[in-house]
Amino acid sequence: MSESNSTSENASFEQIGEVLHKHQSFVLISHVRPDGDAIGSQLALGFSLIAAGKSVRLINEDGLPDNLAFMAGAKKIELPPTEPLDVEVAIALDTATKPRLGDNALHAASKAKIWLNIDHHVSNPKYGDLNLIDSTSPATGQILYQLLTALNLPFPDETRDAIYVAVSTDTGSFQYPSTTAKTYEMAADLVRRGLDVGTINSSTYDNHPYRRVELMRALLNTLELSPDGLVANWELRDETRLDLALLPEDSEGLIDIIRAIRGVLLAVFFEELVDGKIRVSMRSKDRRINVSDIALEFGGGGHALAAGIRMKGPLDEAKPLVLAAIRRRIAEIGI
Ligand code: AMP
Ligand code: MN
Ligand code: MN
Repeated sequence: MSESNSTSENASFEQIGEVLHKHQSFVLISHVRPDGDAIGSQLALGFSLIAAGKSVRLINEDGLPDNLAFMAGAKKIELPPTEPLDVEVAIALDTATKPRLGDNALHAASKAKIWLNIDHHVSNPKYGDLNLIDSTSPATGQILYQLLTALNLPFPDETRDAIYVAVSTDTGSFQYPSTTAKTYEMAADLVRRGLDVGTINSSTYDNHPYRRVELMRALLNTLELSPDGLVANWELRDETRLDLALLPEDSEGLIDIIRAIRGVLLAVFFEELVDGKIRVSMRSKDRRINVSDIALEFGGGGHALAAGIRMKGPLDEAKPLVLAAIRRRIAEIGI
């Protein structure tokens, strides 16, 4: 089906269940530079489908990041093969726009007859043939928990652990306002199903390479605070990335350090990427400042309180443009 067939309606769990039931071969894909929710969602649904006897491939444009290699079943995550896969169904997970799946991943999935799109980004334009977008869910992993339990699909240990990591990492360890009673109830159920809380949290959060702390030191040296104290930002340039031999995942979550400054409503992280583009990460602490809307001005997207952009460089041109858009938004609101 073509993208023009996509509707603004969500599919029901039953409709999604029918597609999963009727078909035998699947490719599950998540966004470039995958985070815990991206890889966790692939493993969660992937291992449930495998336990249901399906043929499943899990691919990601950038492969498995080192910080998530501890996850049970993580070796199943592959780089996209060069030839298109013979699969009936492609499932995009945790991916706000189709291009964010990556060119190679899209090519690998190009023979799929049906596209499912399961996500929690408010900016998701529903590019699947069947869409399950719930922007009230704190993580795609929580949508999958609800789907799998509602449909009584297999729930192996890999699925249980992957859902926990997906939701824990996307909620800042169950802290962000998107965390609801449903989230805690889900976590309790996962623990009841045998999840080892201490081990999984320590593998997720107490297991950083030394270079990540060196990166923190370098970032602190670039820290800037706006005169009114509302906006904090820092930046990572090519030179530091090369000096410290950084991997893309090394900066994951560090923005929370400047987000946590008292009085700061907006935290911004600018990063020079290998391809010359600039990655901008934004976090808001105030519902009135919707960073997804600001990101959309530059072709990015995300959630109201956490969003990102990939834009044209150089950094010295991109940065003032984004900071000016932020100041306009703050002025509009009259803070
Ligand atoms: P990050 O700052 O990379 O952790 O991203 C924050 C949120 O915004 C995540 O949910 C991302 O999936 C989303 N996001 C980041 N970059 C983009 C982008 N270029 N386009 C759409 N969504 C994005
Ligand atoms: Mn994600
Ligand atoms: Mn997510």
